[in-house]
Amino acid sequence: MSRSDALAQRITRLVRPEVQAMQAYHVPPATGMVKLDAMENPYPWPGELREAWLQVLAEVSINRYPDPTAAVLKQRLQREGGVPAQAGLVLGNGSDELIQLLGLALGGGGERVVLSPGPSFVMYRLISGFTGMWFEEVALGEGDFHLDTGAMVAAIGRHQPAIVYLAYPNNPTGNAFESAAMEAVIEAAPGVVVVDEAYEPFCGRSWMPALERYEHLLVMRTVSKMGLAGLRLGYLAGHPDWIAQFEKCRLPYNINALTQASAAFALDHADRLRTQTQALCAERERLFDALSRRPGVAAWPSDANFITFRTAPGRAAAIHGALRNDGVLIKCLDGSHPMLTDCLRVTVGTAEENASFLQALDSALAG
Ligand SMILES: *Cc1c(COP(=O)(O)O)cnc(C)c1O
Repeated sequence: MSRSDALAQRITRLVRPEVQAMQAYHVPPATGMVKLDAMENPYPWPGELREAWLQVLAEVSINRYPDPTAAVLKQRLQREGGVPAQAGLVLGNGSDELIQLLGLALGGGGERVVLSPGPSFVMYRLISGFTGMWFEEVALGEGDFHLDTGAMVAAIGRHQPAIVYLAYPNNPTGNAFESAAMEAVIEAAPGVVVVDEAYEPFCGRSWMPALERYEHLLVMRTVSKMGLAGLRLGYLAGHPDWIAQFEKCRLPYNINALTQASAAFALDHADRLRTQTQALCAERERLFDALSRRPGVAAWPSDANFITFRTAPGRAAAIHGALRNDGVLIKCLDGSHPMLTDCLRVTVGTAEENASFLQALDSALAG
């Protein structure tokens, strides 16, 4: 479609400057690829489970609005997620929507600060941009990406952030920060602290029980990485008085009826998902050992379902491209952050997918 000068001017005049300055989140095409770029669970459901699920879906009244409170689903999440009985829950269309909800409730004027260690999850910065919040990053420690307590506490004192995000384990570095460092940051924060536990199933440690200790703590989870990425469902647990405020900014029917029914069904069969998670953790250790044996490759240990590794100087983009040409899609982190120069990130897949990745990697390293 052609664009007149008048249209260009109208867009420039009307779209908020911070939105004009943004880049839309880009998802690369992946049809037919071995897809190891987005931390998805690679295992399909066994046939009889699919059949039972389809029967549940057949009962959904698709002509009606979904349950606005998602009461049944919340009850399952509370039980399965080990959410303290006194805590409240707000659901989001993925945890991305919860990050947006926090920005809508606490941001607006562009002065309130969101603070996060970095490199970390890109959505904290992106969503701060369009919810009227100022984003500040504090560098993780050199070498092993540890949480730099001194730098974090100093930055918190300086910026008085409304929100501190701590991804635990962290994406894209894969590590779960030391408990003492987490506590120091939580205790120094004047606003809310959101512990983002997207990878909790692969880590086994959690801050959910700490909700009883800290009334400004919020714990965010998602079903995406545990095997239900297609549903788009995240939840935020915390003091009911916080949750009541966030609920006001949530669109009434943000969790659709098919997602509510499917997630409740999946959580009733959570043992299946746990078996898959265990298999992925075993694959992760095999993949880490295999990567670490490659010459010119340095991998960081991971508490999540991905492994970040560094390649020889200046080679990451070429290796990423060679893998793609071989039909294996991973994530190129080089150029995304100063501390991630020469780095790539691979999601742990099935044994076959990981073998395809390693084979393609070997050709790329030789090339
Ligand atoms: C993937 C990811 C999310 C997003 O999860 P969705 O529920 O799929 O929106 C949140 N936080 C971190 C750290 C992630 O890596």
